[in-house]
Amino acid sequence: MEEERKYYCYVCDNELTEKNKSDEHIILNAIGGHLHSYTIMCKDCNSRLGEAADAKLAEDLSFYTDMLCVKKNRQNRHCQIMTNEDGQDIVVEGAGKKLKLRCPYVKKEPDGKNMNIQISARDMNELRGLLRGMVKENTLTQKDVDKIMEKATITEYKPRLKKTTTISELAFPSIVKSAVNYYVDCFYDIPTIKHLVPYIKGEKDTIDVLYLHHFKELPYEVIKGQITHMIHLEGDKNTRLLYAMMEYYGIFIYIVVLDSNYQGDPVNKTYTYDTVSATETERSFSLLLTLEDLDKFRTQPYEEYVTYLPYIEQRADEVMKIWQVRQDREKLQQVVNNAFGKYPEGCVLTDEILKDIENDIMKFFEWGIAKSI
Ligand SMILES: [Zn+2]
Repeated sequence: MEEERKYYCYVCDNELTEKNKSDEHIILNAIGGHLHSYTIMCKDCNSRLGEAADAKLAEDLSFYTDMLCVKKNRQNRHCQIMTNEDGQDIVVEGAGKKLKLRCPYVKKEPDGKNMNIQISARDMNELRGLLRGMVKENTLTQKDVDKIMEKATITEYKPRLKKTTTISELAFPSIVKSAVNYYVDCFYDIPTIKHLVPYIKGEKDTIDVLYLHHFKELPYEVIKGQITHMIHLEGDKNTRLLYAMMEYYGIFIYIVVLDSNYQGDPVNKTYTYDTVSATETERSFSLLLTLEDLDKFRTQPYEEYVTYLPYIEQRADEVMKIWQVRQDREKLQQVVNNAFGKYPEGCVLTDEILKDIENDIMKFFEWGIAKSI
């Protein structure tokens, strides 16, 4: 008779029981990770381990999480603060659908005898209040204010947002944790990764085990329209390396060295999750890296390093394209609804009506083409 398998927490080594087992997300849920395990960590360790690093990773990736409307279990409805090209703070809500200034901005520049004043306010009332203040401090006269109010216009606010293209070091322990989580969940081999626990706890500098890695061409095929999180485990005794390749939103790639003197059986296992369709997806490849390869990438001259950066930009742009397509699709839906909405429900569609609807929709496409030019 087969005995029931025992599982242990890889952090504190306590046996996992019905009472102390916990639901550990292998990839952070805050970035849409859905893979989880009850057989790797106890409740206490789960609640204590690396919270700050997890939060940092979630924050650094939140631009993409929000843009892609990635579904999380817990809806943490935070709005993002980003800067626009003028250095003003922008509050981004609802996957970039709503952008507004965080606070009004006033720029004063002396221009000869005169003073150039530029004001961005969120509405007319706010503008009026700001101007009133300037009258009080004698920067403006009431006459100036009247003139300004006359000229003030309301414009739709369309800032160009800057994408995040780096993850901060504070988040690195969280990346190591994800790698270890996945390895333990797949192989229940705690001794091999035990030495990594202090890195996850933030007691040791992750520079020993975590390597940034860029590719000019990825070692796997990327399916159009997919934006993936991936964990790829690869181990080979010839390269003596057992590592986890961590990919976030198809943009950021890190290598976590699990064992730098690997003597075991070959390991090749990949988990890929498409954040666009919210489903697991198939990917298989093999990439035999050595520690020398990783060091070489890390110590390459800066001029060489920058040649990799356009490829990261390109991958980040893919996310923005998907966001744009979704926005356009929503807008088109609205145009269609509006076009049909002009006519009462159930009315007979004459050629004239159809022509009119067609016109409305064509206008939308012409607008789209003009915009892309
Ligand atoms: Zn534990």
